[in-house]
Amino acid sequence: MLGRSSRENGMIRERVADNVYVFTSELYAQVNSGAVIGPDWSVLIDTLAYPEEIAEIKDFVETRLGTPVRYIINTHYHADHVLGNAAFPGATVIGHRLARELMGIRARAALRAASEENRSLQDVELVLPGIVMESGTMSLRVGKRTLEILALAGHSPDGLGVLVSEDRVLFSGDAMMPIPYFVDGDVEELLASLKRIPRLKLENLVQGHGEVILRGEIQNAIRSNVSYLTAMKRQVARAARRKDPEAALLEITIEECGKARILLGGLAPELHRRNLAALLRQGVREE
Ligand SMILES: [Zn+2]
Repeated sequence: MLGRSSRENGMIRERVADNVYVFTSELYAQVNSGAVIGPDWSVLIDTLAYPEEIAEIKDFVETRLGTPVRYIINTHYHADHVLGNAAFPGATVIGHRLARELMGIRARAALRAASEENRSLQDVELVLPGIVMESGTMSLRVGKRTLEILALAGHSPDGLGVLVSEDRVLFSGDAMMPIPYFVDGDVEELLASLKRIPRLKLENLVQGHGEVILRGEIQNAIRSNVSYLTAMKRQVARAARRKDPEAALLEITIEECGKARILLGGLAPELHRRNLAALLRQGVREE
């Protein structure tokens, strides 16, 4: 219990609309989870990774607000978004068909590796989506609200976004992050997903990681990610034509692509380095 006393203030919780909450992890890469509270039951969007933070969400939604979680929507299969599924045994998980497949294989392997380093993950069980969707949209009614679930691939092939239709709040999953990351996905799909977002006329954009973006800042935030990806494609195409493309990659700085090193608590340069390698490996489609 000692380790918990320093976390008495809890993780960051923000109310973005009536009965719509965002929880931001302080333990791992500012990953976000959301809750939409209905009159009798509630829906979670992603469930974070660490048991102590999942317990805080559960306590807030189920004990303080008194609404059991009936559905969990997983925006994609990555461990930092889905490990908390098992903490809600009464809930049905909704995800992409590919999330179900990939969670069963890759997320299980990632969990096994992580629990060797972190004992608190040892007893965590993976709960796979019981309801799956493929393309198009699916909607879910929670009290007077409609959640529209839509495909937003690119960060990973199974990406989904959740739009709280009446409030114009989008939970984008990792299709939107302070720095784009497509190592497990596809840069063209990610660009297409990013370009869809402004058309949704949002009040709030809840990224997979990092701060909630307000209406007036959304356009710029999307534009910044699109230009990062576009600059990176141009630079990697140039590097690919050099004699030693891998060495040429090392010269492409994050700043040259328009992003700062400090983003995501300093994780940004590592994500940038992996993006470059992935793009060289996947091959750049030149305009
Ligand atoms: Zn993530």
